[in-house]
Amino acid sequence: MGFEKTERVIELNAQVEAFMQEHIYPREHDWEEFTLDPDNRWQVPGWFDELRAKAKAQGLWNLFLPDDYQPWSPGLNNVEIATIFETMSKVTWAQPVFNCNAPDRGNMEVLAKYGTAEQQEQWLMPLLAGEIRSAYAMTEPQVASSDATNMELEIVRDGDEYVLNGRKWWTTGAISPRCKVMLVMGKSNPENDRHHQHSTILVPRDTPGVKLVRELRVFDNLHSPGGEAELLFDNVRVPVSNMIKGEGCGFEIAQGRLGPGRFQYAMTFVGLAQRCLELMCQRAEERVAFGEKLSKKTSVQHEIARSRCEIEQCRLLTLQAADVMDKQGVKAAMPYISMVKIVGPTMCQNVADRAMQVFGGAGVCQDTLIPTVFTHARFCRIADGPDEVHMSQLGKLTIRDLVSAS
Ligand SMILES: Cc1cc2nc3c(=O)[nH]c(=O)nc-3n(C[C@H](O)[C@H](O)[C@H](O)COP(=O)(O)OP(=O)(O)OC[C@H]3O[C@@H](n4cnc5c(N)ncnc54)[C@H](O)[C@@H]3O)c2cc1C
Repeated sequence: MGFEKTERVIELNAQVEAFMQEHIYPREHDWEEFTLDPDNRWQVPGWFDELRAKAKAQGLWNLFLPDDYQPWSPGLNNVEIATIFETMSKVTWAQPVFNCNAPDRGNMEVLAKYGTAEQQEQWLMPLLAGEIRSAYAMTEPQVASSDATNMELEIVRDGDEYVLNGRKWWTTGAISPRCKVMLVMGKSNPENDRHHQHSTILVPRDTPGVKLVRELRVFDNLHSPGGEAELLFDNVRVPVSNMIKGEGCGFEIAQGRLGPGRFQYAMTFVGLAQRCLELMCQRAEERVAFGEKLSKKTSVQHEIARSRCEIEQCRLLTLQAADVMDKQGVKAAMPYISMVKIVGPTMCQNVADRAMQVFGGAGVCQDTLIPTVFTHARFCRIADGPDEVHMSQLGKLTIRDLVSAS
């Protein structure tokens, strides 16, 4: 376990870093100003698409898709992807510039893995090209959605069509006018066993009967430009060819979608936390209180040291998850994937919290990314499955492994 970087990844990572320095960091305040302006709601600044075109032209595009997803993958393994993900995650809105953001990332993986040739042509190709955006609609307001088998939205076959009725919420990205398709999970086969009652089906965003009930706020913020939607599906009709993999495969798809992508998700937190640490150190060196720099104060030094330890622990754990996935496959990596989902957001939340304290008042306003990182890390302890669910899963896997080994 050395995680030595290959020449290819050293070079690619340097390119991503140079892109961040030249194009992303200098625009952080522009992004904040633009997206916080109510007149720009659900829009992106004009320069955003220019940056995407530049990243694409430089080959810094779709780097999230591992080598086994040929012909669409740029050919990196998971350890290589992890390194690049840390670099591109140091600014909260940078991943979409490289077409590597959630939920499109997971949706593209699903379509690449399970989609028919027709579905791939219609939806995967424009997603890979960055021409459209997508959403994943699983969570429902009326049921505990950390248990995917609870979903109630009805999917009923009627001739050559499926008819969808039900309600979804927290559908990330669905408010953006760029969102053209949703992967919707619902109950199609109530007669089957609990894990084969659900299906995932493609629903074009503009299908008649898909109604936006409201825009949800996250910590009092509307999360423009993507947004989180509450949606009503009122007799929504789609062709039977929109079914992904087959009736009853929804749970399997949900598990797969939330599985391997998780180490990329954890590396996002490593990148965000590392950026908070860098800012914290700079601030501590610049700011003087009671006759000395903040960096001279033992309590600040300890907070910096603690943050560095926690980031490095999470980084190594995430690389280990990626390495096991590369060498032994997803099944063997499952305990590590649970570990990084548990550790990543909490680590990042704690580091952002300390950075906020060191920055004082500046740490809670829009002048740095720290408050956004803090709230993002906090809600990610709920989104994609709450901490407790992953802890229970890891606990069960650990007992199984240790008892069967003894
Ligand atoms: C900002 C944001 C974006 C999101 N984006 C999406 C999206 O794009 N698509 C989508 O479908 N969903 C999305 N979600 C929804 C998210 O995945 C769900 O909120 C999450 O799965 C939890 O479901 P729930 O809210 O119904 O909580 P519940 O299932 O009601 O759980 C509530 C609490 O109960 C406790 N709990 C639950 N199970 C256990 C257990 N086994 N052991 C111990 N305690 C337990 C936990 O403390 C948990 O937080 C998003 C959520 C947020 C906040």
